[in-house]
Amino acid sequence: MEPLTELKQRLAEIADVQRAQSVLAWDMEVWMPPGGQKSRATQLATLEKIAHVRQTDDRIGELLDELEPQRASLDPDSDDACILRAARRDFEKLRRVPAELAGELAQVQAESHQAWVGARETSDFAAFQPWLERILELRRRWIECFAPYDDPYDVVLDDFEEGMRTEDVRAIFATLAPEISALVVAHASDEQDEFMQGPFALDQQEVLSRELIEAFGASWDAFRLDVVVHPFEVTLGVGDVRLTTRYAEDDLTSLFTAMHECGHGLYEWGVSPRLDRTPVAGGGSAALHESQSRLWENVVGRSLPFWRWFYPRVRNAFPDQLGNVPLTDFQRAVNRARRTFIRVDADETSYGLHVILRFELEQELVAGRLAVKDLPDAWNARFEELVGLEVPNDRLGVLQDSHWSTGLFGYFPTYLIGSVLSVQIWEKAREAHPDLEEQFERGEFAELHEWLRSNLYVHGSKFTPAETIERVVGGPIDSQPYLRYLRDKLGTLAAA
Ligand code: ZN
Repeated sequence: MEPLTELKQRLAEIADVQRAQSVLAWDMEVWMPPGGQKSRATQLATLEKIAHVRQTDDRIGELLDELEPQRASLDPDSDDACILRAARRDFEKLRRVPAELAGELAQVQAESHQAWVGARETSDFAAFQPWLERILELRRRWIECFAPYDDPYDVVLDDFEEGMRTEDVRAIFATLAPEISALVVAHASDEQDEFMQGPFALDQQEVLSRELIEAFGASWDAFRLDVVVHPFEVTLGVGDVRLTTRYAEDDLTSLFTAMHECGHGLYEWGVSPRLDRTPVAGGGSAALHESQSRLWENVVGRSLPFWRWFYPRVRNAFPDQLGNVPLTDFQRAVNRARRTFIRVDADETSYGLHVILRFELEQELVAGRLAVKDLPDAWNARFEELVGLEVPNDRLGVLQDSHWSTGLFGYFPTYLIGSVLSVQIWEKAREAHPDLEEQFERGEFAELHEWLRSNLYVHGSKFTPAETIERVVGGPIDSQPYLRYLRDKLGTLAAA
């Protein structure tokens, strides 16, 4: 067999095993009865092992070496050149970590997550502390596998944003932190928009969510929408996109969740089918993925033109709750800046501060400059500086997110970088089609969807994140468009 054919076949089978893992994980969240937990954990671990053995097989390294001369002669933008680049990167990263360490991390992360669930319920950081210490110790050993490095945080960040440096993120956030803080100080309000508290019948929320997903361009031939505890999106194959959401009677968050997860789904759905069963079949990076969920959820889904179209539908669905509420009041309510403790409930403006706090603290933890026992105090002090609230307990503070309990360091910054990118990308789309917002007022989103598909989605992760961003927006990450966007929006709402 030709070496390239053999390599691609091996990569395709690895991709199939990984998709099968995703099917089991999706089912676990959506359909599985609780009794299935133990069997499912074993099944997932088995597939994980099969994938790992195949990914680190010596034969992959031999084939990559054999193909090196051929790769040099390929057009660097061609699918094959990009697949070879990604395969080399994945192989080398996975081979650096000894199997025992990878196994131990997986095991401890599962147990630590359980410990975190209990500690969060009782707001008892001391119960979680030894687990976080263990996780960090293993994570640092894992980081050492990638020495030499300039900053240990570079190593964890690279798993989500290939090639991005900690100092780059620091520079972006150093610009954002004081500006966002100032916006929150100027605009945060405690006003309770009582009309936003329902009750909103769940079946109506589902009808509206489905209407949004269709309007944004998804097809039910290729999409599903199901209910879970913690919403997510996962793609299980070409033409098989699974969105999940949740509904609560006392708010309309589900509409934004639907738009958010739909954004992730549209991205994956738009990847060229030619790239299926290759290592470049997914989105360009965690931040690029998040740029799409946030573009649809926030830039489109919280804008006045959008609500000019959709608010009458929502008001029709809930005439008792919203019949007397003018459009501008509703749009202000879904954009209102607030000071709140919980990241996932934060408004669009203050959200960034929650991310900056975590980014700062996890750098200190990873570098060993901050001891785990001192983490709650460090959290509370910095939170007060950034958001202006005194944290009453660890459940509303340091214990609120699951990320660290599962060893997930380096992921948080991608949420805010995603928001920054969402506005840069949106501005490019609007440059190409200046009447997009007029289209939104008519409930038309096809032109935006098509621009995003052909300029971004179709590439999958063929290129590095920095290259992808350069291709789409013509330059590097820039926080100024995002800040301008927030200032304009809050200024307009304050003046209205
Ligand atoms: Zn997301």
